[in-house]
Amino acid sequence: MILTADPVFRIAFQPPLSYNWYMSASAVAESILTKYEPVIGLEVHVQLGTKTKIFCSSPVEFGAPPNTNVCPVCLGLPGALPVLSRQAVEFAIGAAIALHCKVNPFSRFARKNYFYPDLPKGYQISQYDQPLAEHGYLEVLVGQAKKRIGIARVHMEEDAGKSLHDGFADSDKYTYVDLNRSGTPLIEIVSEPDMRSPEEAYTYLTELKQVMQYIGVSDCDMEKGQLRCDANVSVRLRGAEKFGTKAEVKNLNSFRFLKMALEHEIERQVEVLESGGKVVQETRLYNVETGRTVGMRSKEHAHDYRYFPEPDLVPLRVSEHWLHEVKSRLPELPAHRRDRFVSLYGVREYDAQVLTLTRETGDYFETAAKVGGDARTTAHWVVGDLMGLLRAANKDISSSPVKAEHLGELVALISKGELSGKLAKEILPKMFETGEAPSAIMEREGLKQISNADELGAIIDVIIAANPKQIEQFRSGKTAVLGFLVGQVMKASRGQANPAAVNEALKNKLG
Ligand code: ADP
Ligand code: MG
Repeated sequence: MILTADPVFRIAFQPPLSYNWYMSASAVAESILTKYEPVIGLEVHVQLGTKTKIFCSSPVEFGAPPNTNVCPVCLGLPGALPVLSRQAVEFAIGAAIALHCKVNPFSRFARKNYFYPDLPKGYQISQYDQPLAEHGYLEVLVGQAKKRIGIARVHMEEDAGKSLHDGFADSDKYTYVDLNRSGTPLIEIVSEPDMRSPEEAYTYLTELKQVMQYIGVSDCDMEKGQLRCDANVSVRLRGAEKFGTKAEVKNLNSFRFLKMALEHEIERQVEVLESGGKVVQETRLYNVETGRTVGMRSKEHAHDYRYFPEPDLVPLRVSEHWLHEVKSRLPELPAHRRDRFVSLYGVREYDAQVLTLTRETGDYFETAAKVGGDARTTAHWVVGDLMGLLRAANKDISSSPVKAEHLGELVALISKGELSGKLAKEILPKMFETGEAPSAIMEREGLKQISNADELGAIIDVIIAANPKQIEQFRSGKTAVLGFLVGQVMKASRGQANPAAVNEALKNKLG
């Protein structure tokens, strides 16, 4: 098993624009937040990207015809025995290490008993009092500051099947059960109640998803249910030490809904408290249509899962050796990479953030920067112009028609003074269209920066002759007019003149 193998998963690039949009001001009223402080903890399920299920060799495959990827084990037939997938464990260990958790040398699977039509065995194999890993953290950017969000535990479990509710009229209301998903490996990542705003929760989940994608354990495609999140939230008076009573909000199937549900839930709890009531501990469902959360079950009706050690599986032992082996295969994590891009290459914070959104983007940048020389400028070209073109064409960077080496070449040409920034901006879309190197396009179209004094002199003479008034002004001390004259020369050269050289030559001629 190679954690750093070729990207098995295609990771769509997330445009930084939307990121900023959600990061904008909180929708929770300021007046509420001056008096109350929200406290949030997230429970996140991540489907591991193994080829087969956690306890059998049935394939994991999204969108297959219902009930085709099943066998006696994941159907829960009597007498069938689970066999733990080594790959699933290695993915889970990788995730735990990336989250700075202590991986327990000894952990145990447990049965979580409940009845549901999509759970044929009547219990889910999970981990309970002896989870795979504990006591980690994830560092997130809150404003300009870094903040550590504690990870209480990471444990492994199997996914249940899926119930599909169909029909509207009472007469044709059916629920279908598809057991393809049954037995898909999951990790549950439980955070400490360390987040203090919906934005922080949003950032945490974004970062978490990014880390999981980086290390290749999951695509984290929310639409396919590969990343699922339940949010625990309470409020307390600012300055209070004790946490308030929490509610757990389920059914948050997008980042946007997570943030909106939290905003609503915080306001609801504050309203309850302000009107003299008490928040009750309960599970609430977020309703996308109304934007509200509604009570589903209270503490009294909480399930008692009657956990007990899974008798069909031996305890899981993770040796130091195994741990190191998995660790040595992990790639550089996004937070580290971000810091490295800033400190090593002098890339701007924001650019570094965008460049590390996916592993592919970071790799692209590093390849381009090696050729381009000027890493800071290369970063700017990737984040700005190239990503703009990719977005418009709805492509991600791994299928960019502009090869990283070619983008690097473009930057090098600018550095060497053979291309102006303006010309480069014209050439890049052509590179995008044809996949050609910048030099090839320049050759064909006769595009080249003119720095040669003789060639420039001819154009400059024409401009001087055509603008006697401005020349007069310049000579009488209004040197600001030089900018205008440079502009005229640039225009006459169709943008090909080297502005610095023009500046120099003009001054010489007029001075
Ligand atoms: P439970 O026993 O109800 O499952 P846990 O202590 O296991 O509660 O925590 C479950 C999740 O709820 C964790 O993510 C934790 O961070 C979060 N949490 C716990 N207490 C609070 C609280 N008072 N407010 C908000 N979140 C909380
Ligand atoms: Mg719990």
